[in-house]
Amino acid sequence: MSELVGLDKLSCFFDVGRGQRVHAVDNVSLSIAEGETLGLVGESGSGKSTLGKTLMGLNDKTSGSVTYRGKHLPAHYRSADFKRMATVMQMIFQDPYSSLNPRMTVGEIIAEGLRLRNGPKERVGEWLEKVGLSASHASRYPHEFSGGQRQRIGIARALIMEPEFVVCDEPISALDVSVQAQVVNLLNDLKKSMGLTMLFIAHDLSMVRYISDRMAVMYLGSIMELGKAADVYFQPRHPYTEILIASNPEPDPNAERQRLSTPIQGEIPSPVNVPAGCRFAGRCPKVMQVCREKTPPLIPLLNEDRQVACHLYSA
Ligand code: SF4
Repeated sequence: MSELVGLDKLSCFFDVGRGQRVHAVDNVSLSIAEGETLGLVGESGSGKSTLGKTLMGLNDKTSGSVTYRGKHLPAHYRSADFKRMATVMQMIFQDPYSSLNPRMTVGEIIAEGLRLRNGPKERVGEWLEKVGLSASHASRYPHEFSGGQRQRIGIARALIMEPEFVVCDEPISALDVSVQAQVVNLLNDLKKSMGLTMLFIAHDLSMVRYISDRMAVMYLGSIMELGKAADVYFQPRHPYTEILIASNPEPDPNAERQRLSTPIQGEIPSPVNVPAGCRFAGRCPKVMQVCREKTPPLIPLLNEDRQVACHLYSA
């Protein structure tokens, strides 16, 4: 499969005064193939959403680059860039409550982007039905819908643009568990029927494994492990991935009651004071002296389709 989106040493830092900077995304290189779903997981504060927004041009890039079909995207987007890219890349947001304008009808919200495509308004009803709602819902307002229905409206608003690539930024975390699977299945079906490529950001690893081809694990702005989703989930190599999976709640409540849950210890350090050496050293049960001195690079493992940033695997 050929590369659709490429990130090369991408960084996004935010100045927070007194000469301090938040290292939200730090030197990340990734390649997303056409038709692939890449899952991006990590705790809150790991930089996942900032990475998605930087990729979409919603944050300026501090350094490094993003390419789309091999062409460099701007470091700083102007409104013409957003318009040009809107029919190519779209984003589905975490919070369906705040991302929909409460003063606009659902039909107006979904039709907003159509102007850029000069698409006919009838497509709004068609898209409402595609996401499991009814064409008659177009005249209603967002507050008349449940959380799951609002996320369906958000999906219709993004996909009516017929993009090739979609960043799904925690699209299920604000939803009840009972509707999470419905929304994930809807995204999966639309992905297949439209031939989409996706970056799926979430902290529920079992859901990410279900929807993704490959999975990247992020910690404090850096990628710690990258590989096929099932391999990373069932045979994690990086100590952080191991702990993240052990602390992830089972989707089945019966299985969750039976298993020995291992809550992740300690707090993710401040991205302002990024520790020297391995970023995970302060919480890692396998820490060695070298870990506090040298940053482990993300390297491919021998005989495995996997990359890991950990001195346990250094030659
Ligand atoms: Fe743990 Fe060291 Fe590996 Fe970091 S490099 S994850 S501290 S063993």
